[in-house]
Amino acid sequence: MLDVLAYLPAKKKQTPSGWLSFNAVCCQHNGSTRDTRGRGGLKATALGWSYHCFNCSYTASFILGRAVSFKARRLLTWLGVPETEIEMLNLESLRHRSIHGILEDRQQMWNTLSGVSFEEKDLPPYAELLTAEHGPYWEYVRGRHVPADFPAMVQIENDGIHWIRPHVVIPFTYDNKIVGYTCRFLDNRQPKFISDSQPGYVFGIDLQMPNWQHVIVTEGIFDALSIGGLAVMHNTISDAQARLIRSLGREVTVVPDQDLAGIELIDRAVELGWAVSIPEWPAGCKDVNDAVIKLGRLGALLTIMQSRETSRIKIELRKKALAKRIRT
Ligand SMILES: [Zn+2]
Repeated sequence: MLDVLAYLPAKKKQTPSGWLSFNAVCCQHNGSTRDTRGRGGLKATALGWSYHCFNCSYTASFILGRAVSFKARRLLTWLGVPETEIEMLNLESLRHRSIHGILEDRQQMWNTLSGVSFEEKDLPPYAELLTAEHGPYWEYVRGRHVPADFPAMVQIENDGIHWIRPHVVIPFTYDNKIVGYTCRFLDNRQPKFISDSQPGYVFGIDLQMPNWQHVIVTEGIFDALSIGGLAVMHNTISDAQARLIRSLGREVTVVPDQDLAGIELIDRAVELGWAVSIPEWPAGCKDVNDAVIKLGRLGALLTIMQSRETSRIKIELRKKALAKRIRT
C-alpha cells in the first residue's frame, strides 16, 4: 500500500493532536502564493488520511475501501507520487471495499436524496492549527474538554487592517469539507462568537461514529464537542436542521441549556417527537459543557441518559420544574 508519509517534504513537525505540518504543496496550483510557513497538515485516520491546507484551504482525504477521489489524486500528484502508484492505490483500495465504505455511500446517497449540501468555504486568513505551543489558547480549548484530536485553530496575527481580538477558531465541517467556522473570543467583550455558517447546518455530524445508535442534540459548539453530540447553535431547530438530524437514523435526545432560552428548545423537540433530557446537574452547571467539565464526559452522559424522557407529559412536567428552578 502506498505510504503517503514517504512523499511528504522532509521538513515537517508533529502536533500533539497527531497532525504532521509542513509547507503546503497545493497553494501555487490554486492561485495562491506558495506556502513557506508550514500551513499544510496531514493526519493519519483509522482507515486512511486527511489533508488540510491552512493557507489556501485545499482539503483532500483518502479512506481505504473507497476510490481515490479527484482531490486526493491532485494532492498526490503535487507530492510527487507517480501516476502508476496512484492507480495501484486506487485498485488496492477498492479491493478493501469495506462495510465502512458501504455505510458511507449510503449516507452520501441519503444526503443527496434529502437535498443536503453545503458550499465549501475558506477558513479565516492566518488561522493555524492550535497546539500546546499556543499557551492560553490551547489551555482554553483543553479546559472546555474539546477532544485532543479535533483540529481547533487559532488566529493570532493582525490581519493588517483590524486589531484582532484574541480568539480560537472552530472549523465547521460536513463530509470532511470545511463549510464554515466560528470564532470564540477569549476577552470578556461582546460578542463572544462570530460565525460563518450556512442555513440548515448542524455542527458535529462528522463527530458521530458509524456504530452509534444515539445522538445528543445540544445548543452550543462546546456542548457538542465535549459530549460528541450535535449543536444546532440556536435555541430552536429549523426544519432543514431537523431533516439533517433525522437522516442520521439515530435515537435523538435533545438536551437544552438550563435557562429561559432553553425552554423554547424543549417545545420544539416535543413538536419533532424527539426525546428530551433535563438532568439535575450540580449547582452552577447550566449546559452540557458545564456538566462535562464538572462530571467528566462519561459522568455527564450518564446523567443525560438517566433523565431521558420520551413521554410528552413527563417532558412537560420536567419543563415546569426547570422553569421553576430558573426563576428561584
Ligand atoms: Zn494550499
